[in-house]
Order: sequence, then structure tokens, then C-alpha cells
Amino acid sequence: MTRIYLSPPDVGIDDQAAIQRAVESGWIAPLGPEVDAFEIELATMTQRAHGVALSSGTAALHLGLLALGVGPGDRVLVSSLTFAATANAVRYTGAQPVFVDSDRSTWNMDPDLLAEALDGDSRFAACVPVDIYGQCADYARIEALCAQYEVPLIEDAAEALGATYRGKKAGSFGVMAILSFNGNKIITTSGGGALVTDREDWARQARWLATQARDPAPHYEHSTIGYNYRLSNLLAALGRSQLADLERRVEKRRDHNQFYSEALGDLPGVGFMPEGDGCRSTFWLTCLTIDPSEAGTDREQVRVHLESLDIEARPVWKPMHLQPVFSECEAVGGSVSAELFEHGLCLPSGSNLGDEDRNRVVAGIRDLFEP
Ligand SMILES: *Cc1c(COP(=O)(O)O)cnc(C)c1O
Repeated sequence: MTRIYLSPPDVGIDDQAAIQRAVESGWIAPLGPEVDAFEIELATMTQRAHGVALSSGTAALHLGLLALGVGPGDRVLVSSLTFAATANAVRYTGAQPVFVDSDRSTWNMDPDLLAEALDGDSRFAACVPVDIYGQCADYARIEALCAQYEVPLIEDAAEALGATYRGKKAGSFGVMAILSFNGNKIITTSGGGALVTDREDWARQARWLATQARDPAPHYEHSTIGYNYRLSNLLAALGRSQLADLERRVEKRRDHNQFYSEALGDLPGVGFMPEGDGCRSTFWLTCLTIDPSEAGTDREQVRVHLESLDIEARPVWKPMHLQPVFSECEAVGGSVSAELFEHGLCLPSGSNLGDEDRNRVVAGIRDLFEP
């Protein structure tokens, strides 16, 4: 039996052909027709006017914050339950993240805690809610709060490409959004990301900063510190091919979620990440929670047992307010995400996960409940 991975890349013959065609076209650079077309398709997919294809989602966050003028001395509100990239990008600019805890009903940024933070004495340069595990945050309230306090909102939709919230696409909320095409995400370019926005000036600035901030001159002239953040034309070709298959990928992951819920929902102390009101999640990863007082086992025992069966499962993100590197940062609340980390486990959820493998995962978990 082969190892079952959490969320491996799903790359097929069409994808290989797309890369091959791009190689044959001769555009082997961080510019070219595939990049241009990918950017238009990403903008369309996220209901935005502009897309900027970049080397990672982290780079997109960094350039997005720079476009807003975020810098040293600024504070930025960030979901505590996220991957470190969201908070790292804030630090790249010299600003400080302020972590906001999760709402139990969505696992996303708690709008009540956000309201509390905004109502205090601090001013915030930006707010970055994360669409965790592919489910959009409560943008009806979060967008209204950010508008009321005039704090620009960047949606971290790295895990949510293909999700919707009240009929609007993930990536369409706030003044800009970021996407990731890392190897484990819904679509992949092996590594890559994008910034999407309606603001033409921000898109232009991001492209310029991402190509070492070259001023217009026949020689190399620079008046600003730039970055090497553009996506290559070859990888954009892969991204376009993957994007054309997005709906099937999301359906697969949603089907895994339903399968796991039905196959494990009867177990004592086992719960699943809820799908919020008006949300259609990608279920990038299916996450369950194990309450040890009812289950007679715990998250870590289940994880270790699955590992012994060559099945990769991972604890839910360790919240940023509990990370040593961010221990000096301010936090608003924190007990909900701390509990989700303690009890939460992410199950194999790749769009190429087969029926037999899913059954193996379920049987492995049931082992610990039915001795
Ligand atoms: C993956 C991810 C990122 C970063 O994307 P990269 O392309 O890996 O840099 C940012 N935020 C969240 C929530 C992610 O899951």
C-alpha cells in the first residue's frame, strides 16, 4: 500500500501538454503570453478587474501591503488561525500584526472581536482576514466594519479559490485579495500566487515592484527597492491548465468532506468544521475535531495511529498568537483558535484522492474508537 498524502499536487496529462507547448513557444521568462492570459483568467475567476501573477501567495501579500503603504510603525489586523505566511508578510513591511481569534461557527476571524479591536484606541493600516480551509470569512460584517473604520481589507484567499460567499467569489472581497498556487493548494503551479484587485494603479505597482522596480530608462535605473516576485511563463501555462479544471477539483474536495462527515459523524466526540451561513467552501482540507472527554482518544493519538498506517494527517494550524516568533505581538481573544489547534485534525483531501484511500483513512480512524 502506498502512502496517502494530505494534499498532494494533482497534475495530469493536459497539464504536462500545456507546459510542453509553453516550452516550445520559446517564452521561458517571467513574462510572456501565458502570464498575460493567466492574469486575465484569474481576475475573471475572482470578479476583479486586474490580476498579477507572482512567485507565491506570500509575495502577493507582501506587495499588497506595500501597495497600501503599510510600513514600520503600522499595525495590521490578521486572523490568528492561519499559516505563518499571512503574518510573516506583515513583518516584511516592518509593521506589526495584531491577531484576532476565530469565530466558533466558521473558524474564521470573529467579527465581534474585530469590532472590539477597531473600537479601541489603536489605528490599523490594514485588516487581513483569512478564508480558512477554503471557507470565506463573514464578509457581510467584516467588510462593513472595515468600511466604517476606513481600514483597507485584504482577503487572504490562498485556500479558497473556487469558494463563494453569498453568491460572490472568493477573492472578490475587500480592496484586494491574494491567491496561492503552492503544491498543496486547490490548483498549483508548483509554487506561485497572485494579487487580484480592481485598482489599476495597484496592479501596475505590484508588477513593477515584482520585477526589481526598474525605472523607465534604456539602462538599469532604480529609485525604489524592488523584488524578484514574478511568475514564469512556463508556470503560468501550468496554472491556466489547472484553472480550467478548478470546478472538478473543488467538487472532489467537497465530496471528500461529505464522505468523511457521513463515515465518521457517528463517533462520540467527533465534530467537523461547520460550513457557515451563505458559504460554499472549497473544503481545501477536511478538518475534524476530537473532544477527548467524549472520544476516549485524542487528536494526537489519531494522528500518530494514521501515521503508523502511512497516512498523512496534520493538526489544524497552530494559531499565530501561540507561535514563539510572534509571542511579543498583541492578540484579541485567542481561546477558540487555541482549542481548534488542540482538538483539530486535517484529513487527506487532495482532488486526486481515490475511494480506496478514503476508506483506508476512515478505517484507520475507526480503529481507535472500536477496539
Ligand atoms: C498557502 C498559504 C499562504 C501562502 O501561499 P504561498 O504560495 O505558499 O506563499 C498564505 N496564506 C494562507 C492562509 C495559506 O494557506
